[in-house]
Amino acid sequence: MSLCDLTPAYIRAIAPYQPGKPISELQRELGLSQIIKLASNENPLGPSPHAIQAMESLLETLALYPDGNGFDLRSAIGQKFGVELPHIILGNGSNDILEFAARAFLGVGTSAVYSQHAFAVYPLATQAVGAEGIAVPAKEYGCDLEAMVDAIRSDTRVLFIANPNNPTGTFISGPMLRKAFERVPDHVLIVLDEAYTEYLRADETYDSISWLKDFPNLLVSRTFSKAYGLAGLRVGFGLAAPGVIDLMNRVRAPFNVSTLGLAAAEAALGDSEFLARSVALNTAGMNQIVQGLHALNLPYIPSWGNFVAFKVGEGMAIYQKLLRAGIIVRPIANYGMPEWLRVSIGLASENALFLEALGKIVNQHV
Ligand SMILES: *Cc1c(COP(=O)(O)O)cnc(C)c1O
Repeated sequence: MSLCDLTPAYIRAIAPYQPGKPISELQRELGLSQIIKLASNENPLGPSPHAIQAMESLLETLALYPDGNGFDLRSAIGQKFGVELPHIILGNGSNDILEFAARAFLGVGTSAVYSQHAFAVYPLATQAVGAEGIAVPAKEYGCDLEAMVDAIRSDTRVLFIANPNNPTGTFISGPMLRKAFERVPDHVLIVLDEAYTEYLRADETYDSISWLKDFPNLLVSRTFSKAYGLAGLRVGFGLAAPGVIDLMNRVRAPFNVSTLGLAAAEAALGDSEFLARSVALNTAGMNQIVQGLHALNLPYIPSWGNFVAFKVGEGMAIYQKLLRAGIIVRPIANYGMPEWLRVSIGLASENALFLEALGKIVNQHV
């Protein structure tokens, strides 16, 4: 028996996460000079200028470890969202938060519930700790929340739900969400992943953070990777009851958020002008892309995020053709949607180039 054969079977069974193709990789492969990446739901405006300034001022300090408790950033988060420090944990991206939840609450002999077409990290984090994943069939590509609550078993410890969901962009209203949470038993941690919450229209925004006082088993996860424009830095945070945060802190690596990440996230959090500009750009870009898809007669799933899934038939073939035109989108066959692709909303000029290339491909069979 080799070392690798001796690893737990549940580790060997993991299908690795498939990230969006990096620009540099496509450059190497095809030698293209102009490449547009609309594959990972990144902010097309780049980082907030305040975040860049904050990082520049700290370059000289990088020989020192960061503040392992992230006091300043946690204080800023606490102030902005009205929560006390013991309710806040920082992550190396919100991916870290999802993994802390799995490591602290799941293990062999337990299970986690999530939706079909849910974010890939939920099954990954579940499998990595030897727990069983229960994927509940989606309803019109969205989470069937009632069915998810019904699927909870006595060995279930975590319910993962993204709102809006990635890669489908579907959304469940605040009141519906809360009503379903009332039915979740106390022995289950509800992980409410709100990576795209900043993009919600004002009349759709709901205050999940205020629910924390009613639900001691609720963890709200947020990220600086999307609307805040800091995906490359890896910063996210979780909000929950102090007992939940305390357990998650035990599986958190020391210094999991870098000095630059802490400072940039704090500056970005305070830059409401940048956030508003990012959201406005997304709203306009979403209209542009959805109208373009409509004109091409391609079905799409109405999206509440900064991306939209659209149906092309042979997803992989169209993806490859778009690559040759220098446009990177995301195939989502690994989410059980082989006929679909997901495109992130870019700058108006990028959206236009994407639609033009897609039009040529679907109309002329390039
Ligand atoms: C992008 C995304 C995240 C955030 O990932 P980070 O690790 O914070 O970069 C979390 N959940 C969902 C559903 C996402 O789409």
